[in-house]
Amino acid sequence: MSFETLNLMPAILKNVRNAGYETPTPIQKATIPLVMSGRDVLGCAQTGTGKTAAFALPMIQQMAKKPVRDGQPRTIRQLILTPTRELAMQIYENFVLYGKNLPVCPCVIFGGVGQQGQVDALHRGADTVIACPGRLWDLMNQGYVRLDFVETFVLDEADRMLDMGFIHDVRRIAAKLPQKHQTLLFSATMPPEVEKLAMDLLHAPETVKVDPVSSTVKRIDQCLYYVDKANKKFLLAKLLREPDVENALVFSRTKHGADRIVRELKREGIDACAIHGDKSQGQRQNALARFKSGESKVLIATDIAARGIDIAGLSHVFNYDMPMEPEAYVHRIGRTGRAGRDGKAISFCCIDETKQLDQVEKLIGKRLPVRESEWPMLVTTPTDPKEKEAARQLAKAARMAKLERSAALPKKVSASGNAVPEHKAHRAMPAAKAKAAETKPVKAAVREKAAESKQSRSAVRTAAPVQKPRFGPGAENRAAEPMIRASVPKGGQAIVIGKGGKVQPAAAKPAQSKPGRAPLAKPVQRVNRTRGRNGER
Ligand code: AMP
Repeated sequence: MSFETLNLMPAILKNVRNAGYETPTPIQKATIPLVMSGRDVLGCAQTGTGKTAAFALPMIQQMAKKPVRDGQPRTIRQLILTPTRELAMQIYENFVLYGKNLPVCPCVIFGGVGQQGQVDALHRGADTVIACPGRLWDLMNQGYVRLDFVETFVLDEADRMLDMGFIHDVRRIAAKLPQKHQTLLFSATMPPEVEKLAMDLLHAPETVKVDPVSSTVKRIDQCLYYVDKANKKFLLAKLLREPDVENALVFSRTKHGADRIVRELKREGIDACAIHGDKSQGQRQNALARFKSGESKVLIATDIAARGIDIAGLSHVFNYDMPMEPEAYVHRIGRTGRAGRDGKAISFCCIDETKQLDQVEKLIGKRLPVRESEWPMLVTTPTDPKEKEAARQLAKAARMAKLERSAALPKKVSASGNAVPEHKAHRAMPAAKAKAAETKPVKAAVREKAAESKQSRSAVRTAAPVQKPRFGPGAENRAAEPMIRASVPKGGQAIVIGKGGKVQPAAAKPAQSKPGRAPLAKPVQRVNRTRGRNGER
């Protein structure tokens, strides 16, 4: 079967030929006629099967057959939701490629970058919007995007949307679509939540199932090294130096792990860059561009960041860490061996990852051939999760005890026994200023006062072991506590604790009337705020 038999218009056929495609892939053969007939489609296909062209080609044809009339404003007629920015960019580029010289105006929307460029593109007029749900919802709320005229809605990588927590946004966006529209939903796997979403969004869909996720691409040569965690970096560096490695995508389970691998490879003299969720959009695009151009031979990625990335002619995929979900293995190695090319997928497994390896082998239905290296696995006792947990609990208990100790004894206690709130440390005074301050006669008075308050503080500390909260739980017992600060009993006289913790009735004006104390500062004069302190307006 050729593309010509799919009833695509000559301009699209020309663009497809220019893209280097000779025959349609199975998903394209099945999906293109269905989309052109206006049916809803539920596509079960993984990345690398040509699924983008499967929906993009007929959508471009639909748009080209009903172009915007001169003078009419462009409205959004096609909406494609996709989970990652990279995937959104890729789909956008494919629309530009397949829609060359055709009246199609795609626009891409994703977060992590300023929104103004995207808002401007929308103002200029876009009929096909390829978007990540978060930013799209944001722009919808700001009134920049209206979906009232959408004719075709595509939900790409629905299972990933679910994993990444976008389903809520997807549902909210879908609720804003007009009643009558065509929906195409693609997903590599069909967990129950995706099935439910499909049931809610699709109307009498045709199901197209190609390459279920358990079938790994046959042209990929897969193998496995048992290696200790600490030696993975040496093995990776050695394998990357082998002549058949043109370029390699290395999967790390964590973002920190990805950065660590980059550092370790750099130490071994191998240039590498990383993409993961903590990198800015600019850094991610830059790393991807360097990798695609061949400037950097090695790209380290986390599963989410690498999802859907299309790198033509990727020779090697390394599973530096075994994936937590077995399906991710198939997605990972699917980056290589694309569009009929050969590829190699090499996995590293340490003793703590044997469970994940078992799950992968069960899913793909075969054992991965094991290779030997100069770093054989020596650690054969898995890290006991109970031990790890016990250590974590111990550390937590120590932290709590420290916190409790510091809470029980406030660092500063006022003369009346209350905890004095701590102030932020002041910046150190410049030396000259400090010296000038030293000469001030006030200092002597301050010292005297400090000594006095210290004396009374120590008295209070002995009298008041623990401060109870003023409000909330525990406050009700305060009545039973010995009185430790000035208080006025109903109809009675105020009581204070004097020096040495002695309880005594308070004088009517305690502070001012005490003999030997420095007189209080003059009360602050009221200031006419409308005029300012100096009377200026
Ligand atoms: P996708 O699954 O859409 O990410 O596509 C994976 C790769 O296959 C991309 O690099 C496409 O350019 C390529 N591709 C898509 N359709 C065809 C085709 N009919 N023949 C050859 N390559 C294709």
